Amino acid sequence: MISQQTIQQILSRIDIIEIVGGFVKLKKRGTNYLGLCPFHNEKTPSFTVSPAKEIYKCFGCGRSGNTISFLMEHEKYSYVEALRWLAARYNVEVEEKELSPEARQQQQVAESLYIINTFAQKFFADTLFNDEEGQDVGLSYLKERGFNEEIMRKFQLGYCPDQRDTFARAALAAQYNPEYLVRTGLVVQREEKLIDNYRGRVIFPIHNQTGKTIGFGARIIRSNDRAPKYINTPENEIYVKSKILYGSYQARQAIDKADECLLVEGYTDVISLHQAGIENVVASGGTSLTIDQLRLIRKYTHHLTIIYDGDSAGVKAALRGLDMALEEGLDVKLVLIPDKEDPDSYVRRIGASAFREFIAANKKDVILFQLEVALKDAGGDSNKKAAVVNQVAETIARINKAEDFTRQQDYIRQSAEILRIEETGLYTLVNKFIRERIAKQETKAANAAAATDTGFPGGDPSAMPVPADEDSLNLLFRHEQNERGMIRVLLEYGLRAWDEQNLVADYVLGESAELADLIDNKRLLTILDLFKDWYRQGLEPTSKNFLYHEDQELSTLAVSVMDVHLELSPNWKDHYEGKIATPDDLYKEDVLSTMRYLKLRKVYRLMEENQADLGKPHSEEELMMLLQTHMHLKEMERSLLQDLGTVIFK
Ligand SMILES: [Zn+2]
Repeated sequence: MISQQTIQQILSRIDIIEIVGGFVKLKKRGTNYLGLCPFHNEKTPSFTVSPAKEIYKCFGCGRSGNTISFLMEHEKYSYVEALRWLAARYNVEVEEKELSPEARQQQQVAESLYIINTFAQKFFADTLFNDEEGQDVGLSYLKERGFNEEIMRKFQLGYCPDQRDTFARAALAAQYNPEYLVRTGLVVQREEKLIDNYRGRVIFPIHNQTGKTIGFGARIIRSNDRAPKYINTPENEIYVKSKILYGSYQARQAIDKADECLLVEGYTDVISLHQAGIENVVASGGTSLTIDQLRLIRKYTHHLTIIYDGDSAGVKAALRGLDMALEEGLDVKLVLIPDKEDPDSYVRRIGASAFREFIAANKKDVILFQLEVALKDAGGDSNKKAAVVNQVAETIARINKAEDFTRQQDYIRQSAEILRIEETGLYTLVNKFIRERIAKQETKAANAAAATDTGFPGGDPSAMPVPADEDSLNLLFRHEQNERGMIRVLLEYGLRAWDEQNLVADYVLGESAELADLIDNKRLLTILDLFKDWYRQGLEPTSKNFLYHEDQELSTLAVSVMDVHLELSPNWKDHYEGKIATPDDLYKEDVLSTMRYLKLRKVYRLMEENQADLGKPHSEEELMMLLQTHMHLKEMERSLLQDLGTVIFK
């Protein structure tokens, strides 16, 4: 939707140190910058940012990327959101590509609703803190509930006056469109008049991932049998209930850091826990979790802990989303708050550290919990009990990710124990469900095969088949490193001089013609081919064209290919500084040794083929040929090894 010119303009302004440095404290170290990784907990910095290459890499957790992918990962922006954020930051005017009339219309409505919500949020907050009724009714109620002003401001709480149309009049006076005002749910139309919908209620604004106000929850203050406790925003262009987790904007970084997301029922639970210093918490509103909400959590962590009060209907609702959670690869635990309390009242009564301890000590495995509940319900009825066995086997079968294999084994063992059935029997049943699931997925997978068969590092590791053992993994990885090397030197040095007439790109592309069949990772060939195309067209492709490529997969691969470690290690520098005169001499050596490794592999492959031919029946003449070939290959091997031996790195 953003024009290519705008994107170019944004990319040319990007200063990775400035942007990443806004989120991570960075220190200069050599040509790079070093800081504590924002994506995993660490005490010694291993998060490296290279301003020259415009990329970051963490040597602790392995995350890497460019400025845009940093914003996508750290702030959970989409590609377009990241671009818009950068555009705003650098004062680049965003030129939009033509949208369809419907899409433009929808976007305009959405923009209007955001603007109205922002106005309303400020109006309600202002009323809460500065208006007499707001203070007397709203503020004193919230204080009585134990909230301090700091937390009220953090969550932008507010109050709507208990009069017919105070807000409506203010909004109309500010020229807001009456039709859109109704669509936000802030007002309702009675005959020709607009009436405030949240009269006499405290207001909880609801934010999306980027902190924009998308809707409100309005809570009644005086109990009243006829009125609902909460009124929420109706579904509209920006408020889509199934995608909302209350508090996710305020909690996002804490969830990332803690690698755990706590899920509670209500707004006040979230706010109370925040006030107590427990910030990795969101609320679902007590309904069963949707796939969109689970995916939202998955962006930040694999560990979900549901905290509900013991006899809440919400527990059952939450458990209904369990199968989906397992399929999304989430590890789900459940904590029940005792004594008819909710997290809000409980944390208030026992304090933050006791609350934390309670959570840690009382995490129940949600699958086993569900099993125990179902078993209790079944009582002595053996038909019902058989159904429970089936159900638990099906649930366990959903944990089908390769890395969760031992988890699955554990569940089978523990469930068999609870059910008092034979472990092997349950194992067989689980496998039956797995086979059924796989059969169903196979048709789907066949279509997608082309996309996943090359997915080694840089791709989604869960999409990989399980490697046979560590040796084969190392083997794969060594080859992969090798293959990456060729792309790396092309991206890094492609436009530098090779000799008097040629650039490095000419040399590498020339050699690659013969070596390309060695490249197993076909996505690397995509980069190679794209580079070749651009280069032949007279463009001057550099790593940047790939780093900021719209195709995120390609961009990730390009980042992963690039090596910042080479210039990072102080040891390396000390060790070799005297031996290699200048970095300018270094790149040719780097190119040569990289290509030599690939050539060596080619030689080994030819030797293997030759060896296989030797094993077949042949004439004397053929034997001579084969032996000569062998000698020739041996000589090439020797010479390559010798050359490689004289090169210091790698
Ligand atoms: Zn890290």
